[in-house]
Amino acid sequence: MYKIEDINYMVSLYCPGKCVNCNIWQYDKKEIIKDELDINIFEKIFSAKAIQHTNYFDLTAGESQLSPKYIDVVKIIAKNKPNAFIHTNISGWYPQKHYEVTKECLKYIKKENFRIDISLDGKKENYEKIRLVKNGYEKVLETIELLKPFGINLRVTMIVYKQNYNDILWFIDFAKKNQIEYFIGYARNANLLNNLNKQITYSKEELQFIEELLYKANWLNDRRKPNWLWAKSIYENSVPYFNCYMGKKAIVIDPYGNVYPCNDCLDFLNMGNLNDFDGNLDNLLTSKKALNVIKTVENKKCQPCGMLCAHKIEFPWGKQAGLQ
Ligand code: SF4
Ligand code: SF4
Repeated sequence: MYKIEDINYMVSLYCPGKCVNCNIWQYDKKEIIKDELDINIFEKIFSAKAIQHTNYFDLTAGESQLSPKYIDVVKIIAKNKPNAFIHTNISGWYPQKHYEVTKECLKYIKKENFRIDISLDGKKENYEKIRLVKNGYEKVLETIELLKPFGINLRVTMIVYKQNYNDILWFIDFAKKNQIEYFIGYARNANLLNNLNKQITYSKEELQFIEELLYKANWLNDRRKPNWLWAKSIYENSVPYFNCYMGKKAIVIDPYGNVYPCNDCLDFLNMGNLNDFDGNLDNLLTSKKALNVIKTVENKKCQPCGMLCAHKIEFPWGKQAGLQ
């Protein structure tokens, strides 16, 4: 039943930064790290049959590279899965820290298997409307320069918001000029981002304009188009029902050890907590609670769904990029 290909481990929700469209930074800093999963329990999941073929690990949450656990997490993954691919997204606001953490991680993981995405949401003037840390834009540029020589999979990422969609072509040009890869994603509301009070709305004309820009940028190929059509359907309030294999093919572990099929971490999709199973992921996944969640997902009871970063999905108009 389970064939987990990807694991998203939310290392820590701690984030001292500040952004307009995400409210993670508003959580109480002390409270948010208080009950984080013990790294030894995390290591125990590697004996699970369900993840014997897992080879992709997303290390996310708030500013995960600031967590004192981050390097140990990379070390544990590399020890148990020597060929694993590890991906992390960062703000780029802590150039020296990102540099030191990345350098240390490269003692354990091959540079080809390490991807770091740096958020670069547009030109300086628009970036500063979205990301509110002082000199944030300059710090991002500094981080890019510091990380480039490592030869890792370095990308800049742009989440398309109302404030920055005019910069899509500029963004791609920036990446090309700097000879780094790029990725374009779309803004979403989510329980975990604590931003349900800031609904994202676009006019018909705006959506058409964004779509034209994405076509002009050659971004909407077969692999990526479903993600845009999904985003568009969310903004148009007409999300279709679809087949979702999250939970069976991918799981999310939150900073406190709770396991979910996807990363909005909704209470009714909580499959169980690793602490209650002493890190035995197989036992957790075959528990009644977890199997009920799988049924809920199969029966589409968690839809309509706007979890844009979920990737094991088959839409009426094609597969999400993660579903081969
Ligand atoms: S988007 Fe990232 S950097 Fe900004 S507040 Fe949220 S977690 Fe922090
Ligand atoms: S349909 Fe949406 S909410 Fe339900 S498991 Fe899939 S991604 Fe998560």
